Amino acid sequence: IAVSEGTCNTHPKGVLQFTGGEDAALARLQQWMFTDDRLQHYFDIRNGMLGEGYSTKLSPWLSAGCISPRLVYHESKRYEIERGISNKSTYWVTFELLCRDFFRFLCTKHGNKIFFQDGAEGGRGSTPRKWSTDADKIARWKTGMTGQPLVDANMRELMHTGWMSNRGRQNVASYLVLEMGVDWRIGADHFESYLLDHDVCSNYGNW
Ligand SMILES: Cc1cc2nc3c(=O)[nH]c(=O)nc-3n(C[C@H](O)[C@H](O)[C@H](O)COP(=O)(O)OP(=O)(O)OC[C@H]3O[C@@H](n4cnc5c(N)ncnc54)[C@H](O)[C@@H]3O)c2cc1C
Repeated sequence: IAVSEGTCNTHPKGVLQFTGGEDAALARLQQWMFTDDRLQHYFDIRNGMLGEGYSTKLSPWLSAGCISPRLVYHESKRYEIERGISNKSTYWVTFELLCRDFFRFLCTKHGNKIFFQDGAEGGRGSTPRKWSTDADKIARWKTGMTGQPLVDANMRELMHTGWMSNRGRQNVASYLVLEMGVDWRIGADHFESYLLDHDVCSNYGNW
């Protein structure tokens, strides 16, 4: 998406046909925020998992530097003035961009400790847990063959399209770590290989 201004070779069933470059990013912002008028409902729709409308889908362009978070913020403010609407939803995209900033600062503070098994701040005195590295379990998670429909649907979406919703990411991450007992870094590494919007700070920070 960063290097090519042409359409990526994305799956026809992908949430969006992501096209590289600033023009496409600006067009997506305009479409989602103003034409489709989604911002005023964002707080209520942001946990969706199906279709293009539940969230901005700007992350691939943001992670590649095609569009700036400041511009998205200023467009939110313009929306509030032009539409005469200012509510929790119109603030919440800015809140998410602040989360993005938070993870950048976290990584700046902790450096390569963000890749440690116990996390950037260590285990804080807890008993070290023995994590599974069972190859079969990991392969089932990666290919969407765990037998849990929600997890499998999300993992297959990632594998075929390079996209997964925020709520999907939270669910599959919890499943890998808490249900399968697998080292979280194996999940983060898989996300790094497949996500169209991969960003070291947001990915490793969220895990
Ligand atoms: C385990 C896990 C891994 C993730 N890995 C990445 C990653 O590699 N790259 C990435 O950009 N995001 C990552 N996220 C955060 C989030 O899932 C995506 O930013 C979001 O789904 C992108 O969709 P959107 O652009 O439609 O977001 P919207 O809901 O429209 O939010 C607007 C923007 O805010 C930022 N944002 C939203 N939620 C978060 C969040 N939780 N953390 C940091 N920034 C956020 C993004 O830049 C996003 O484009 C991860 C989340 C989890 C739980």
